[in-house]
Amino acid sequence: VAGEFALIERYFRALGTRRADVTLGVGDDAALLVPPAGHELVAAVDALVDGVHFPHGSPPASIGHRALAVNLSDLAAMGATPAWALLSLTMPSADEGWIAAFAGGFDALARVHEVSLVGGNTTRGPLTVSVQVMGFVPSGQALRRSGGRAGDAVCVTGTPGDAAGGLALEQGRAQASGPDADHLRTRFLYPLPRCATGAALRGIASACIDISDGLAADAGKLAAASGRGVRIDIRSLPLSSPLVAVFGTPRARELALGGGEDYELLFTVPRAHLAALERALPQAEGTWRRIGELTDSPGVFTVDGGVVTQFSHAGYDHFATG
Ligand SMILES: [Mg+2]
Repeated sequence: VAGEFALIERYFRALGTRRADVTLGVGDDAALLVPPAGHELVAAVDALVDGVHFPHGSPPASIGHRALAVNLSDLAAMGATPAWALLSLTMPSADEGWIAAFAGGFDALARVHEVSLVGGNTTRGPLTVSVQVMGFVPSGQALRRSGGRAGDAVCVTGTPGDAAGGLALEQGRAQASGPDADHLRTRFLYPLPRCATGAALRGIASACIDISDGLAADAGKLAAASGRGVRIDIRSLPLSSPLVAVFGTPRARELALGGGEDYELLFTVPRAHLAALERALPQAEGTWRRIGELTDSPGVFTVDGGVVTQFSHAGYDHFATG
């Protein structure tokens, strides 16, 4: 076993050599890291279990990418800049080809965000990938879920629903082929955490959350943490053309609201900050869309034309799980 796993540590070590603020990385008992002065350390951890958080038999590069991406997305939601990651990998056997592809997927995304792997550990067992990420944010400037006020605009990045559509295709719950279907699959397999956007929202957004469980559910969490409710205008949802092409507009809207796995940011902006938002992140570049507002009364409501509906998980889980 020791020999097999020594092989893995060789791959881990290669991922850990890119930052000057790592005094000591992979290879000792623990890492030594130097956070910048005047900043708070921001930390998040998430585990992905085979067959639960990704379909069994997913490409190993995608598993490596997603294990890091879902954690970077949590840092993005705080407005933090990522720096370091730790990886705990439980796998049934040390298959070198699998590990090389997994490490390649992890590393390609780590490079984009200048993240160093500073600790790794391997155990034999059912495939589970646990990643911890750490980063930093100027002291006192982290975005939280709890800062929203009634009347704040609710905005979202990207095109939610694509990942849920891609997952449905991956799992065979929907059938389609061609470039649109491939695009949606890629959006599930290789989500792009919005770290630069999150950092740009510091001082502008009043609250922020990343979308893992579904736009409406996560909007509800932000609203509840802020002691408010939320109203979402169905017709304002930014739907991608591949999602509409494969699923049609009504189902695309349901996937956008209830699907999950998007790892986009949902954030609130006081009206007085909307001009600053437009300057920091010009809407013409398609990076975000205003989709609703926070309300005084609690709950999640959708508006379609004049029709207001209370969102409940029961109503949308059907579409999320098939
Ligand atoms: Mg999150």
